Amino acid sequence: MQYHHTKVLIVGSGPAGYTAAVYASRAMLSPILIQGIEPGGQLTTTTEVENWPGDTEVQGPDLMVRMEAHAKAMGCEIIGDIVTKLEVNCRPFVATCDSGKKYTADAIILATGARAKWLGLPSEEKYKGFGVSACATCDGFFYRGQEITVIGGGNTAVEEALFLTNFASKVTLVHRRDELRAEKILQERLFKNPKIEPMWFNELNEVLGTESPMGVEAIRVKNTKTGQLSEIPCKGVFIAIGHAPATELVKDFLETHNGGYVKVQPGSTKTSIPGIFAAGDLTDHIYRQAVTSAGMGCMAALDAEKFIAEGQ
Ligand code: NAP
Repeated sequence: MQYHHTKVLIVGSGPAGYTAAVYASRAMLSPILIQGIEPGGQLTTTTEVENWPGDTEVQGPDLMVRMEAHAKAMGCEIIGDIVTKLEVNCRPFVATCDSGKKYTADAIILATGARAKWLGLPSEEKYKGFGVSACATCDGFFYRGQEITVIGGGNTAVEEALFLTNFASKVTLVHRRDELRAEKILQERLFKNPKIEPMWFNELNEVLGTESPMGVEAIRVKNTKTGQLSEIPCKGVFIAIGHAPATELVKDFLETHNGGYVKVQPGSTKTSIPGIFAAGDLTDHIYRQAVTSAGMGCMAALDAEKFIAEGQ
């Protein structure tokens, strides 16, 4: 087995990974970036991004194509593969990929991000891909002229509900409280949209549908105050209840906190293992923005550069 050695291996291809790639390339560290299962990360499943500085409005997937091109132009080698195993008790570290290729690295920058959370209901699982989805931009198109429900009250839920009005005849936003967590500007758009009806103090109890063909017909919701059950007819259910860090690769050997986020030393990207750095949604349970992830990617590259320069 031939090992490919690099000074800095970057795992993940969202704003944190690509920014780390730009900085590590400019520090002449010749980094290698392994993109992972979803090249470009969560922004590839969004539409308009209005809070990326310098762009009043940019499509999420376009922004990620530009970031990849930027990292490449600076000299980063970008590999379309998935890291399936990290060996961290040896120096250099060893990363094994899905393709069978192995990489050794003096320092590793983890930027594997986060992914959508599910409620964990059996009926949600049963109808996943048959009416239940966590990605409006991926699946919204299938529900032209249909009624849709969205579960959640954060930025994702409100953005998904707004986007789905491009296709749906009606969108019901089901939220467990009567106050949204989403930014005020998004809330304003939501309340102004005649196709969206919020349903407060309710949570999803069961997805109801047919077996053959497999498909959703309605959802049963439960009032969080009275316990009363009611049904909302719909062909699509979008679950938008937040995101969880993608830590499968490292959770057995890196310290985590706040429900599984990789712990870094305050004001740095140093994890509990010297030489392994973490940036972006994998480690950030508070801000979780593209721009803060990019900032952390920069910090991780600078931290890795210092670590290598000091010969640790
Ligand atoms: P979030 O802000 O954590 O919101 C999750 C929502 O789902 C909350 O309203 C929460 O209700 C609800 N929820 C959670 N668990 C639930 C359960 N078991 N049953 C019913 N409802 C449940 O998650 P997010 O909207 O995915 O956003 C994640 C991060 O990404 C945030 O920092 C957000 O600002 C950021 N983001 C930013 C943008 C943007 O800037 N344009 C777009 C998307 C996401 P409660 O409110 O009652 O807790």
